[in-house]
Amino acid sequence: MNKLIDVKFDEQHIWHPYTSMKTPLPSYPVQSADGVRIKLESGQELIDGMSSWWSVIHGYNHPVINQAITDQLSKMSHVMFGGLTHNPAIELCKKLVEITPVGLEKVFLADSGSVSVEVALKMAIQCQLGRGYTSRNKFVTIKHGYHGDTFGAMAVCDPVNSMHSLYSDILPKNYFIEAPKSKPDQDFDHKELDELKMLLQQDSDNIAALILEPVVQGAGGMRFYHPEFISAAKSICEQYKILLIADEIATGFGRTGKMFACEHAQITPDIMCLGKAITGGYMTLAATLCTEQVALDISQCDAGVLMHGPTFMANPLACAAANASLDLLRTGDWFEQVKHIEAGLKQGLQPCEELDCVTEVRVFGAIGVIEMKQVVNVAEIQKQFIQHDLWIRPFGKLVYVMPQYIISTQDLALLTSGIVKTLSAM
Ligand SMILES: *Cc1c(COP(=O)(O)O)cnc(C)c1O
Repeated sequence: MNKLIDVKFDEQHIWHPYTSMKTPLPSYPVQSADGVRIKLESGQELIDGMSSWWSVIHGYNHPVINQAITDQLSKMSHVMFGGLTHNPAIELCKKLVEITPVGLEKVFLADSGSVSVEVALKMAIQCQLGRGYTSRNKFVTIKHGYHGDTFGAMAVCDPVNSMHSLYSDILPKNYFIEAPKSKPDQDFDHKELDELKMLLQQDSDNIAALILEPVVQGAGGMRFYHPEFISAAKSICEQYKILLIADEIATGFGRTGKMFACEHAQITPDIMCLGKAITGGYMTLAATLCTEQVALDISQCDAGVLMHGPTFMANPLACAAANASLDLLRTGDWFEQVKHIEAGLKQGLQPCEELDCVTEVRVFGAIGVIEMKQVVNVAEIQKQFIQHDLWIRPFGKLVYVMPQYIISTQDLALLTSGIVKTLSAM
């Protein structure tokens, strides 16, 4: 017998992401999840379009990852990483060094995406200090970005979306340039680099790094842009010895049709952040990688060490899940699966283009976005999606999906046709 889920207690005492305790939004009680389906307490099964925020790429309850965690559990679930080390971490870092762009050699294991961004920002500042640049402590980023919810990360998120005005006295001030508008399948407009060039010409003395989400901007607007922006920006940064931080927390591990989105631009960033899908969505883990040079420069600054070290750094259970997930990627055909999803989304979502309530439909890799004319009422539209047995959680004007790589043709068709029906009825 499953214990009843105490939704009332949840409503009264538990915060969910971006919610109010005074006017809570409904949270649907989940009993279990398997493959691409989330089973509600009522017994209703929903096709999950969100992969639990980009993370569950192989589907829920995967036997291989389950086994890897169980095996690790019988050895140890955790030991501190200060002064101790273990195989799950070593194996994982070997794999990360191997599959990430050539030149990324040093790995910091962090406990969440936001923390990996904090670590990347600290690496950049310490690297510049090590090179003797004492005032290079600000960042450039592009508008509509999202890099996490902690203070350092928030300070490089889109200022409007992340409500910088609320924290204006404590958030460090950074530089925001216009987001590139050329789409990946269009010609690149080189004028889009002018603002960056001008800024670095004037202010490079104050800037440690450029941070961006390569090719796909996620939670800040679900925008796709031309990879040439990244390769050209990398050259401009090099000219001024400014670092490039690629935040691949959402795009990493195949989602965009390449193992990492940086590969679309054929560059190696100086620092790369990974998270979300790294454990196949099993538990929280993230990583910040950097080049040999960045690591050496960090050790030249007064501290001599990288000043970060979380309690649960390199948690063995999380590393074991990540190792299993990366093995599944290596031996599976994620590349074909992502192509299959891309084609299915393009075809299946196309009817939405005709709808009055829709501004644009765009698909890139295994990511489908429908931009609406109006901000959607999340609670209301979620109810409609659930009537079509779908789990989709829009934000702002954006209804978007990024299915599990293993989704079948039939389930993908159910997902897209359910979206078309729901939006048609609006
Ligand atoms: C989700 C996300 C983060 C933050 O990761 P958390 O694990 O939620 O802290 C940072 N950057 C990008 C691009 C993300 O998509």
